[in-house]
Order: sequence, then C-alpha cells, then structure tokens
Amino acid sequence: MIAGDDVVGAEILQKAASGERLNAPEIEALYHLPLPDVAAAAHELRLTRRDPDVVTFLIDRNINYTNICNVGCNFCAFYRTRRQSDSYTLDYDQISAKITELEAVGGTRILMQGGVNPELGLDYYTGLLRHIKAHHPGIRIDAFSPEEVLFMERSFGLSLDELLDTLIAAGLDGLPGAGGEILEDDVRKKAAPARIRSEDWFRIIDAAQRKGLYTIATMVIGFGESYAQRTRHLLKIREQQDRANALYGGNGFSGFAMWTLQTEHTRLHGRAPGATAHEYLQQLAVARIALDNLPNIQASWPGQGFKVAQASLYYGANDLGSTMMEENVVSAAGGHGRHKATVRELIRIAVDAGFTPAIRNSRFQIIEWPEVGAYLDHAEANPEAERAVGAAG
Ligand code: SF4
Repeated sequence: MIAGDDVVGAEILQKAASGERLNAPEIEALYHLPLPDVAAAAHELRLTRRDPDVVTFLIDRNINYTNICNVGCNFCAFYRTRRQSDSYTLDYDQISAKITELEAVGGTRILMQGGVNPELGLDYYTGLLRHIKAHHPGIRIDAFSPEEVLFMERSFGLSLDELLDTLIAAGLDGLPGAGGEILEDDVRKKAAPARIRSEDWFRIIDAAQRKGLYTIATMVIGFGESYAQRTRHLLKIREQQDRANALYGGNGFSGFAMWTLQTEHTRLHGRAPGATAHEYLQQLAVARIALDNLPNIQASWPGQGFKVAQASLYYGANDLGSTMMEENVVSAAGGHGRHKATVRELIRIAVDAGFTPAIRNSRFQIIEWPEVGAYLDHAEANPEAERAVGAAG
C-alpha cells in the first residue's frame, strides 16, 4: 500500500469509527485495508450501538417442514425431488412433537422453513400455523422465506397483501429473511437460475415489514461475487432499513445474519470459491460499519464453528444467533458439522470472550439473564446437570 492510500484508509476508518455513514466507494475501500484496523473500527461501533458488556442469543428450534423443492438451487444440498426416497413433508403432529421438545428446554420461537413444495396447498400452511398456535400458544412462529412466499403468491390466487394477511391471521409472527445470499441478480442467476430475484425478495420483505412482521437481513459470501457486489448488497439492505424506519414505525430488520457458502454435495462444489474464516471476519466487520442503521449483527457458528463465532464478537457481532436444535440446510452442504448448540455452549463462548450472556427473544429484547455458574460449573463436572438447568439440545 502506498503512503497516499494509507492516509485515505485512515480517514475512512476514522469516519467509520465516529459513526458517520460511509458511501459506496468508502465501503468498498474497507475490503482493501488491514483487517485488524477494520475490525477495531467495527468493534468500536458495536460497543456504542449495543450494550458493550452483553452478548445475546435465542433459545429456538429450526424446523424444516418439507425438503421437497422445485427451485433446485445449485448451492443447495438440502432439497429433494418428490420421487427421491428420502424426501419428506412433516405432518402437524410431527411438527408439534418438535415444538414440545423446544418448550421443555425453555425455547420461545421456531424458525420454520422448507422447500418450495408444489404439492402443498394454502390449507397446509394456514392449518399448520393455526395448529401450532392452538397447541403451543407461547411459541412465536417466524416462518417461510421470501422464496416460499413468492411460490404461495403465484400458486394460490392471492395478492401479496392478501396472502400475508391470511398467514398473519392464521398465526404467523415473522418472516425470516432467508434467501438473501447476495442480492445482485448477476450472482443469483449463476448460483441458482430459478432463485427468487432481488426485486421480489425486497418487495416481499417490504410488505412484511409494513405489516409489522419480524424480519432479518441475510448475506452469504463465497459465490465468487466481487467486493462491489457485496457493497451493493449491503447498501440495498441499508436503504430498506432506512425506508422501514421512516415508513413503518421502525419495523425494519431486527438483525443481520451472514455466513459463508458451503458447497459439499452440491452442484457448485469445485465451481465456487467459498470463503475463508479471514474473509468471513472481514465481511462481518465491513457489514457492522456499513449497516449503521442495523444494531444487531449475528455471529454464525453453523457456518464457521464455535471458535470463529467467538472471534466474531470482536469483529462487529453482538449476538450468537440461536441454539437451533436442528440445522439441516447449511450443515447438509458441509459447514462445521454443527446442527445445534446448547445453552451452555453459547454461554461458554460469550463468557470466555469476556461478555455477559443474555437470552433474548426474536426481536432481540432480553428476556432472561442466565445464571452462568449453574450452567458452567455443574454442567462441566456432570453433563447430566446441563439438562437439569434447562440447556437446549
Ligand atoms: S435453497 Fe431453498 S429454494 Fe433453493 S433448492 Fe434449497 S430448499 Fe429449494
């Protein structure tokens, strides 16, 4: 790096650390600066935007109600065609049994998503939501990615507003922002030609936010996208957040989750570069700096493992995501082989990194301060005690 670049880089980092909004060239320049410097600016912002002592996480469960999907994304190892012997669609009782297990460990929400299964009618979705609310009234239902909503919109003869109203009336609380990947259609078309386009993704998210539903912003790196494309992805999210803050009473994205592409068992294996831990941490720090209107940035342990997730707490992340209890999508394509985390493991990550762990709800509001000693002292001496103090998993 030449001297003039050093000066410009220092000015950008100073501007970032002071909380000033960066423009596109400034954000893109962050990728070329030394990572420790970018991380320091990101951590400084994390300390001012959220409680500097606290790291949060959620006790929840992922439920994938069907793996039958006709979108066929090249990066997906989770989906099956209807004829494959290991394809499935869960019935309401099977889903209910999973939620009962979640309730037993103090969980408060399910993240329920599936493939785009053309055999399912609107009644399956609305009946499922009503069934869950009737049998598990204390559980929040964050369900259906924009891809699934697009399928329902096209299949069931309802406008987007009518469809969302119908799902909300049946019990839907939130619409996860899965399927964001890189919201640049050049990248999307190569990775998954039939994948929902960025315009539809934002149209559906915008309607969900207008209707008061929970959403999060997502990002996946490693498709071979350029820094300019990553920058535009972040700017589109920031713009949507500005819009929701201005028009929807602040009901924008509750958080930002980012992970790295995993390609094992997928058609992209050997054709997409993926991303290293270094790139992951760099991207996380850049996101913290760029997304000045989005205070909650999650670390990703399913994609990067616990150790990198712990390091993320000094690269802009203030949250460890959730216990999940079963993660089937990222892990199907590799990842670090983790399908779930226990409460004790997430507490351990936070405490060893020097933070106070707190259990939150899906809106990132703290609902419990776990008794750290009860989880760490007893559970390590006696694994059975982990269950006794209510750890998920
Ligand atoms: S990522 Fe989702 S939409 Fe794409 S093939 Fe997999 S299940 Fe289907």
